[in-house]
Amino acid sequence: MRARKVPPDLVGELEKAAGPASVTAEAGELEAFASDESGAEPAPPDVVVRPADTDAVGRVLGVAHRLGVPVVPVGGLTGLAGGAVPRRGGIALSLERLDRIHPVDRDNLRVSAGAGTRTVDLQQAAAGAGLFYPPDPAALERSTIGGNVATNAGGPRCFKYGVTAEYVLALEAVSAEGRVFRTGAATRKNATGLRLAQLLIGSEGTLAVVTEVTLRLVVPPRARAAATASFDSVEAAGEAAAAIVRSGLVPSALELLDATCLALLREQLEGVPLAEGAALLLVEVDGPDEGRVGADLEHVSALLAGARERELAKREEDVELLWAARRALSPAIARSTRDFVFQDVCVPIAAVPEALRRIGDIAERYALRIPVFSHAGDGNLHPSILYDAAAGDQAERAHAAERDVLRAALELGGTISAEHGIGLLKLPFVREDLDSVAIDQMRAIKRALDPHGILNPGKLLPS
Ligand SMILES: Cc1cc2nc3c(=O)[nH]c(=O)nc-3n(C[C@H](O)[C@H](O)[C@H](O)COP(=O)(O)OP(=O)(O)OC[C@H]3O[C@@H](n4cnc5c(N)ncnc54)[C@H](O)[C@@H]3O)c2cc1C
Repeated sequence: MRARKVPPDLVGELEKAAGPASVTAEAGELEAFASDESGAEPAPPDVVVRPADTDAVGRVLGVAHRLGVPVVPVGGLTGLAGGAVPRRGGIALSLERLDRIHPVDRDNLRVSAGAGTRTVDLQQAAAGAGLFYPPDPAALERSTIGGNVATNAGGPRCFKYGVTAEYVLALEAVSAEGRVFRTGAATRKNATGLRLAQLLIGSEGTLAVVTEVTLRLVVPPRARAAATASFDSVEAAGEAAAAIVRSGLVPSALELLDATCLALLREQLEGVPLAEGAALLLVEVDGPDEGRVGADLEHVSALLAGARERELAKREEDVELLWAARRALSPAIARSTRDFVFQDVCVPIAAVPEALRRIGDIAERYALRIPVFSHAGDGNLHPSILYDAAAGDQAERAHAAERDVLRAALELGGTISAEHGIGLLKLPFVREDLDSVAIDQMRAIKRALDPHGILNPGKLLPS
């Protein structure tokens, strides 16, 4: 539902601000900006603007602020929470042309890049300079650094290496009124002023538009190896993951796949050697040399002694084969069903087995398939609720199951989003997760930074 009518002079004003070639209201373009990857109901913007530089972003926001028009910042549209869907129309502000990667500063292990830079391009630029940018959201070939900052994106490597927030040193951004500012510092430590850059991380385009990001890089690991272990129950796999975390070992990935995920992979990928069992753990260790990695792999192997079967992958090609199977999982889930709700919850590590058990119960209660894979080291579970909207009451059951999954995470001391954000889709559940006074304070910050409420309205915070 649109909140307001489009001001008649909007397109003309935006053309003056960003240049006519940067502004379009052509139907095909509006359609292309109507949805992200979340499955949220599409809603086209009234106009799409692709500013050429930060100053143009400032002028566009100046127009939007003056005319009171909603602005939805847009990265790669890979979001899974509906954050970039322009539910209230207005301007889809694509940062795609802000994709310059500055030369990597090898001496200081850092790099600056425009918000529209693809995550994969940033990773490759770092690798080209002999350095490593670890955050690895699975859609990194299409997602942007600006979108990663706005959602505080994670991925399988985050247990060891941390999420996007842990790499952001400084940001250039544009305020709701159109004022360009820089915040943070290009140093490793910084205790000067409020942590405004950190506040913008994960703010889903509701507080400012990020135009450039300065990121910390690390020295890449020189060796890696992996172990897989199958278990007779998904809870046992969860217990083993928790035991690895408690041992003090920090694997570079600690992924759990339940029996439904394994069945889907077997159905769809011929020749992938996947052990039988109710769940599989994939544990990767990396480090500066083969000696240390080998010692860590032995440690992992000992910690997995209770598994039904264990396999070690010491050669790079064998490790890569395991990751190829892991990467094939999301497409295999998507191909296996007409519709699905892809969830993202996080629980304390000790609660992982119980969370898995409860999700199994929910699948049974609603008679739906719910494959779960998990960045288990972080307690981050991704249950996918599979259904067919055209079949009877399946959609209703799927959404009831989704609600129960989120509530189970909360009951276990967890949270309703680990890495995908709130966007539109999880908004109805935010009050169950956050303290009401904390919500009031967040809303006060929102009002202070965006007095006319034009930045991505109707997202992230309940009204
Ligand atoms: C197959 C698949 C796998 C995925 N795997 C992972 C995963 O492993 N881990 C993970 O964390 N996520 C994952 N995601 C989700 C998604 O890739 C991330 O949320 C990503 O960070 C979104 O980036 P984007 O550039 O596509 O942003 P968009 O989808 O375009 O936008 C996301 C949000 O950020 C805001 N935004 C975008 N750019 C800016 C900006 N410059 N300034 C201010 N706000 C901005 C938007 O308004 C919106 O609210 C996956 C998605 C898919 C489709």
